[in-house]
Amino acid sequence: MPTCNKILLLAALLLTQAVTAATGAEQQTKKPAEKYAPASVKMDVKKVSDHVYYVEGTAGIATDNEGFISNASFIVTGDGVVIFDALGTPSLAHKLVQKIAEITDQPIKKVIVSHYHADHIYGLQVFEELGAEIIAPYGAQKYIQSDAARERLEERQFSLDPWVNENTHLVLPDTTVEKSYQFKMGELTFTLNFMGKAHSDGDMTLLVEPDKVLFSGDIIFRERIPFVGSADSRKWLETLTRLETSGLTALVPGHGPASTDPRNTISLTRRYLAYLRKVMGAGVEEFTPFDEVYANADWSEFKDLPAFAEGNRINAYQVYLSMEAELLEQ
Ligand SMILES: [Zn+2]
Repeated sequence: MPTCNKILLLAALLLTQAVTAATGAEQQTKKPAEKYAPASVKMDVKKVSDHVYYVEGTAGIATDNEGFISNASFIVTGDGVVIFDALGTPSLAHKLVQKIAEITDQPIKKVIVSHYHADHIYGLQVFEELGAEIIAPYGAQKYIQSDAARERLEERQFSLDPWVNENTHLVLPDTTVEKSYQFKMGELTFTLNFMGKAHSDGDMTLLVEPDKVLFSGDIIFRERIPFVGSADSRKWLETLTRLETSGLTALVPGHGPASTDPRNTISLTRRYLAYLRKVMGAGVEEFTPFDEVYANADWSEFKDLPAFAEGNRINAYQVYLSMEAELLEQ
């Protein structure tokens, strides 16, 4: 190695060590209260039924509103609190814990995660610290070990700083669910249904009885364009078709307000996915380039919904690509 390069390398090493030392010193002097940068975003607790409450994320993109874009719910059983979904930053989860404390002094015993996407899991470490059992759908471990998970966290440490920072880490579940699973707490019965690959690589719903409230996670978006991401739109549609909604008093979606008319609420996500598959599928079969298919499609039914501008084109492109792949599979 030429001397010049050696000097540069040495300088870089020294600089890295200096930065590491500085960060270490900074961490040591941090007071515990500042561990989670305070979330200033508004978070109102809404009551859904006798035992069920939720907070509703806003309709913006992931990096808006301090990352508060997804819903989280909690169920007060009389023998402890169960949480459904953990929000998109530790700061938001910390705020949720404070909100729960205003309603009950029962401990948080379990956290159920609908799926392992950033906006639903970055708060998990707060509940883990409180000693809660983390329950997640099968596929969570695979996600945590993936490059996609690492890259997303790095991106959020940048785009959601200081609420997602170098202290934020992914949390492995204590329990993973692969098929229906029931447990009781207090007077309530919790039924977890593993739905398989739909919106994500593994989605799970929760039914709480006797309240008869269903928590759908991101299988259902209400009053906004769904995020398709890496979803399998074919299986997602099938899942929506077999989702049992009869007798429910309320449905809490992954995004958007809770609904007392579940059948009607499911309709938007179903119609949107079906429309994407119809239009993109026709384009794929005729070998029409994506840009042309997209430009010629009639989006009037969905164009006024929140998140259309941010999400529709990329959703459509994802469905176009996946339907090309489906065509090759045939
Ligand atoms: Zn989500």
